[in-house]
Amino acid sequence: MSPDPAQTDAFRTPIVAVLGHVDHGKTSLLDKIRGSAVIEGESGAITQHIGATAVPLDVVSKIAGDLVDPEEFDLPGLLFIDTPGHHAFTTLRARGGALADIAILVVDVTDGFQPQTHEAVSILQDSETPFVVAANKVDTIPGWNPSPDAPIRASYEAQSDRVRGDLDERLYEIIGDLSDAGFSADFYWRVKNFRQNVGVIPVSAETGEGIPDLLAVLMGLSQRYMGEEMEVDISGPGAGTVLEVTEERGFGSTLDVILYDGTIEEGDEIVVGGTQGPIVTTVRALLQPRDLAEIRTEKRFEQVESVSAAMGLKIAAPDLKEALSGAPVRVVGDRETEAVVEAVQEELAEVAVSTEEEGIVVKADTLGSLEAIANSLREAEIPILRAEVGDIAPRDVSVASTADEDTHQAILGFNVDVHDDAAELAAESDVRLFMDDVIYQLIEDYEAYVENIHRRQREAVFENVVRPARFRILRDHVFRQSGPAVVGVEVATGTLGRNVPVGYFENGEFERVGVLKTIQDEGEDLDELRAGERAAVSIDGPTVGRDIEEEDVLWVDLPENHAKVLEQELREDLPADEREALAQFLETRREREPFWGK
Ligand code: GDP
Repeated sequence: MSPDPAQTDAFRTPIVAVLGHVDHGKTSLLDKIRGSAVIEGESGAITQHIGATAVPLDVVSKIAGDLVDPEEFDLPGLLFIDTPGHHAFTTLRARGGALADIAILVVDVTDGFQPQTHEAVSILQDSETPFVVAANKVDTIPGWNPSPDAPIRASYEAQSDRVRGDLDERLYEIIGDLSDAGFSADFYWRVKNFRQNVGVIPVSAETGEGIPDLLAVLMGLSQRYMGEEMEVDISGPGAGTVLEVTEERGFGSTLDVILYDGTIEEGDEIVVGGTQGPIVTTVRALLQPRDLAEIRTEKRFEQVESVSAAMGLKIAAPDLKEALSGAPVRVVGDRETEAVVEAVQEELAEVAVSTEEEGIVVKADTLGSLEAIANSLREAEIPILRAEVGDIAPRDVSVASTADEDTHQAILGFNVDVHDDAAELAAESDVRLFMDDVIYQLIEDYEAYVENIHRRQREAVFENVVRPARFRILRDHVFRQSGPAVVGVEVATGTLGRNVPVGYFENGEFERVGVLKTIQDEGEDLDELRAGERAAVSIDGPTVGRDIEEEDVLWVDLPENHAKVLEQELREDLPADEREALAQFLETRREREPFWGK
C-alpha cells in the first residue's frame, strides 16, 4: 500500500534521542548513522538541520535493506537529535514531556550498565519514552569476525560458538540489568511488541554491523506503536523547543529550535519562554545550514521562508537575549497573543521546581536540566531552598548563606559558570559550591561533603561524651585503700576513660562511689582501657573495704544526656562491646526508671 501524499503530509518525522554512559559510543553511533545515510542517500537526500539530522524513509530503507520495506510505512523517516546524552534529552521538552518520541540507550557490551546508564534508564522511565538498547562495540569481543554494515543476525550466526557464547553472556547481563530496573527485555529478534518489551540490538558503531537492524526497529516501533502520535497538523501554528540561545554575526541573539509541530514562517508573531517570563516577538529570519559542501563559505546559513515539523532550525528575531534553553516557542497564528502568552507561562510554571523553607540552592543551564536535578535531589531526599536557571551570581550565594543547617549552605551548579564576585563571596561566607555536568556526580559530591560534615560533628561529640564501660576490681590488687583508692581492674565491656564518675547498681538503684581519675599500667599513664585489658586505676571518693570491695563490678556513671546522645546518635559509631555495655547499662537503669535517657 503506497501512502497517499496528502496523508503523508499529516505525519511528522519521529524524533530520536541517544542516551548512555560516557564513552559507550553515543557520538560514534550517531556519526555512523549519519555517515551511512550520506553514502546511501546520494547527495541531498539526508538533510543536516540545526541540532538534528533527518534520515528520510527511502534512505532508511536503503541502509536497512530487506529489513525495511518502505511500502509499509507512512512516517517520512527519522529525525536524530545531534547532541547525545541526558542533558539534551532533558532539555528538549515538549508540552511537559520529552521532545524525543523514542530513544536509543547505548550500552557498551563489555562495560555493561554504568552509573549514567542507570540514570538514563530512570530518565526514560520517568518520561515514559519508549526505547531500544544498542549493545555497542560487539566488534571488541575477542575473536569477533566482522561483516561491515551487515544486519546483525547474519553476522551473529556467522561467529564461532565461543564468540557467540561470549556475546550472549554479555547481552544477558544487560537484559538482567534492564529487568532490575523494571523492564522486560530480550534480543530484539525475539521481541513481538516493542512497547512492552525492550529490544536489545547488538551493534558496532565501528563496523556498522547492526545499524540496519537498529534503524529497522526504530522505524517499526514508531510506525506500529506511535503512528497516531505522529499525526500532526503541519499546516497549524508551529510549536517547538529552544535548544540553545546563540549570538550570530549579523543576526544578534538567535534561537536554535526543534520544531515538533506545525509550521513557522518569516514574519510570524511568536511567543518564547524567557528568564523574565514569556517574550513576544516577530520572526525576522528562519535559517538552516547550507549543504555540507558549502558550509565553509562566508555564509553558513541559508535563509528560508517557512519550515514545517519535525525540523531543526535557527530563528532570528529581536529581543531574544533573555530566552531560555528548554523553553517553549509558539507561533501565535490566528489566536489571541494573550492566550498564547498564557499557555507559554503555564508551561514554564509546570517545570518550576517545588522548593522548601530550608535546603540548598540549585542552578542549572536549562529548565529541563533543572527539573532533572530536582527529581534526583528529591529521590536522594535533599531539600531545595531555591532552584533557578542561570549562572551562579552573588545573589545565589546570599540566599544559600541564609540556610539554617551547615550542610545546606551549598549551591549545586549544573553546566553553569560562577561569576567571579560570587566565588569570592562564597569563600567569605563559607557557602560551598559544587559544579559538574553529570547529575549523579554532582549529587554524589554533595552527599560526600554532607557525610564528611556529619562525621566531623559526630567525632566532636564523641570526644566529649562519656563512654559506657563495665569493669571489675581484681582480687589481691588493692594498692591503696583510699584518698584516692588505687586498685587493679579489668574491663569487661566498653571503653573505660579517665575523669569519669563510677558506681554500681544495687537493687536496680545506681550508687555513685566516686570519680575515676587516672589509669596506669607499669608506671605509664593511659587515656583509656579497652575490654579485656587490665591496669591500675585511682578512684577519688571511696574507701576499699567500706564503699567498694575486691571483685566488685563497677560501671561508668553515664550522665543522662550523654546516654541519650550515645543511644540515639552515636550507636552506629560505637564498637560492638561498647554498644553492649550501653545496652546493659540502660536496661538495668530502666528497670526502675523506664524513661531514663529517652
Ligand atoms: P560517547 O561518549 O558515548 O559519545 O562515546 P564515543 O562515541 O565518543 O566513543 C568512545 C570511544 O569508543 C571512542 O574512542 C570510539 O572510537 C570508541 N567506539 C565507539 N563505538 C565503538 C565500536 O562499536 N567499536 C569499537 N571498537 N570502538 C567504538
